[in-house]
Amino acid sequence: MSENSFYENLLSLPDLKVDSIEHLPSKLVIHCHLSVKTGQCPVCQQKTTSINQYTERVLQDLTIVGKQVYLKIRIPQFECQNCHRYFSYELPFADANKSYTYRQSKWIFELCSQQPFTEVAALVNLSNKTVEHLYYEHVSKRLQVKERFKNVRQLGIDELSHRKGKGDYCCVLTDLERGTHLDILPDRKKETIIAYFNDLGAGICQQIQVVSCDIWDSYILASRQCFPNAEITLDHFHIVKALNESLDAVRKSLRKAYQTHQEFKNIKWLLFKQAQNCTEEQTHLLNLAFEKSPTLHQFYIQRNRFHTIYQCATDAENMTHLLNDWIEQATKLEHPKTNKFIKTLQNWMTNIASYANTFATNAVTEGLNNLIRRIKRISFGMPNFEHLRLRVLAKNI
Ligand SMILES: [Zn+2]
Repeated sequence: MSENSFYENLLSLPDLKVDSIEHLPSKLVIHCHLSVKTGQCPVCQQKTTSINQYTERVLQDLTIVGKQVYLKIRIPQFECQNCHRYFSYELPFADANKSYTYRQSKWIFELCSQQPFTEVAALVNLSNKTVEHLYYEHVSKRLQVKERFKNVRQLGIDELSHRKGKGDYCCVLTDLERGTHLDILPDRKKETIIAYFNDLGAGICQQIQVVSCDIWDSYILASRQCFPNAEITLDHFHIVKALNESLDAVRKSLRKAYQTHQEFKNIKWLLFKQAQNCTEEQTHLLNLAFEKSPTLHQFYIQRNRFHTIYQCATDAENMTHLLNDWIEQATKLEHPKTNKFIKTLQNWMTNIASYANTFATNAVTEGLNNLIRRIKRISFGMPNFEHLRLRVLAKNI
């Protein structure tokens, strides 16, 4: 087999014939022509064999044994005999105005999901801008938002701070059953969420059976409006976090009031830990603190009781009953922080108690949000929202 036909077979591109190969230290330049003899006019669809001239295109193709591959292709420009227009033959393996083949572009895209654009750019000998553009164009083309929502029954709504310290949050939508990102919205306003789901259509909205979200009015109000068949559950993790914050507020005030007392030092994490997971020594430390402050002990007991409700409630009705009972006890603590928490419970009782029916949590979302944080790290913060969105969604297109 001649060298030309060897490379022709290796490249396997339609109509491409290899004329010669230039072996340079870091690259291969493969000179080629096309075997096509006729062209079809894009305007009048007439076929023609009249060639006006040849033009040359250089396309980067997949690397071969570490050498960058450039195809120098002679492309015929036809003249239509009917309407006298000139037109170039369109290659079936590359975009008309791109300097690389489709398969090279797919490879660059795959590299980009593993490493920063700058590294990929250096690797494939293109500019950062070109690589970045190629990547986002690839994702936008393949992203089919409606398709992502097909068969989604359990929806997670959570937020993620987009730029740290700037207070701008974006809203992350996840499929709780499959553990995948569905989409990211630029903010967490009620109107944004409603407009988004209106756009997706009634079919998708009606198939949602369970929504799990954070204690955030917009999420709950938007969900009530958008998903007529869904049971909306406030995420367990966020509720317990709010309760732990009130327990911690008590600890902080004790630390402040009794600065010389060792008992209130270094117990923050012990207070948050589940009682049954504490070692003997840890339990002892907690008991010393409780002896000094019966109030703290009371808070601790109530927090643990609250945990038990989540574990034992048999259905939403039973959970509502247990929570109301809990509120009655906790009200006696008469602490402003606890009162605030109680108010939250009362406001959203139905959506909190629905946990015992749905068992829905945003745990999956939290894990996926770590993925977003990782993407932001390799992309040096990534200030552009749309780019962040595309990078995250590219993970499963
Ligand atoms: Zn024509």
